[in-house]
Amino acid sequence: MFEQAKRLKILPPYLFAKLDKMKQEAVRKGVDVISFGIGDPDIPTPGHIVRSLQKACANPLHHRYPSYEGMLSFRQAVAGWYRKRFGVKLDPADEVLSLIGAKEGIGHIPLAFIDPGDIVLIPEPGYPVYLAGTVFADGRPYLMPLLEKNGFLPDLSKIPMSVLRHAKMMFLNYPNNPTAAVAPVSFLKDAVRFAKKHGLIVCYDNTYSEMTFEGYKAPSILQIPGAKDVCIEYNSLSKTYNMTGWRIAWACGNREILSGLGKIKTNLDSGVFQAVQEAAITALSSSQECVRNNLKILKERRNVLVNGLKELGWKVSTPKATFYIWARFPSSFPANRRTGEPADHLSSVEMCEKLLSRCGVLATPGNGFGPSGGGFLRFAITVSVKRIREAVARMGKL
Ligand SMILES: *Cc1c(COP(=O)(O)O)cnc(C)c1O
Repeated sequence: MFEQAKRLKILPPYLFAKLDKMKQEAVRKGVDVISFGIGDPDIPTPGHIVRSLQKACANPLHHRYPSYEGMLSFRQAVAGWYRKRFGVKLDPADEVLSLIGAKEGIGHIPLAFIDPGDIVLIPEPGYPVYLAGTVFADGRPYLMPLLEKNGFLPDLSKIPMSVLRHAKMMFLNYPNNPTAAVAPVSFLKDAVRFAKKHGLIVCYDNTYSEMTFEGYKAPSILQIPGAKDVCIEYNSLSKTYNMTGWRIAWACGNREILSGLGKIKTNLDSGVFQAVQEAAITALSSSQECVRNNLKILKERRNVLVNGLKELGWKVSTPKATFYIWARFPSSFPANRRTGEPADHLSSVEMCEKLLSRCGVLATPGNGFGPSGGGFLRFAITVSVKRIREAVARMGKL
């Protein structure tokens, strides 16, 4: 009876909602599903952060509306963390903005700067919200393919002038979801130079900056001289401290861009529960030992899954960052038991369905993140080593 707006119809179905449905169906049929689907940490938030929230909850000061931009003490904690971690100086007064999760700030930023018809440059495969936010603002998405041969970096020189003339914003995300690729500082320099040349706002999604292995340290784009002229950077407590359910993150960098985003937010939301901000301050300001312990667990899982998949003939490399394994499935995989048709005839979605129905293993189809993700599956290592071994064993029986 009530027809939905066109903007909802042109949006692809939210990938993870669809996966969740598939999983529920399998569970109902009695399948013991091992889910590598959504990137949601299974390990609890560290105890000292939980206790900080518990204490802050009891303070009536925090029961009222928070300030729109976040408590000054939270923004100071972010600035302190950026100085220590990246050597980047931020003015807590207007170069840091609290967010109800990075997703919220990513989804809202196009509303502040994109007029109907303006183009937004979006990496694909990529986090689905870059596209959704663009579509909601009546912007035009231009997809930048992330190809393996380019190290999953977009080839900026391939973007036509006719596109650049109308482009106003570019999203970038490293360490990358879903490919687990990292970007060298030289690429960040190129991106800043490119943005300045073409008058682009750069929205740099650095939500996996702390989820790195073997001594690799992910840079901030704000480290690049002059980056603050054109960039904001998103970071979040979600992945670093296993706090996806808490909904707290921030954007930082260029004050003019942040002020635009802030204007949207003051009209739509009322900030982050202050007790959650207090807990975030605790997370950012105390020992980072909990992060290191978390990484130890993830590293073991990563190694077990990568080695397991390799033994099964999958083409995977060991990622330096994120909790994703971006795996190209082997053409020898028996897609069709009866005809022996190989799997390279399969789309990622079909492969995903086969893995689920035959092995009870759920991974995310690569092309769900964009056409260049075809032929890949994304495994989020949010299950225990024991279950990973079990998943590999089940896949080996095929
Ligand atoms: C998880 C994720 C986010 C969202 O983080 P929240 O702070 O929980 O909203 C943003 N970008 C990428 C690439 C992510 O994987």
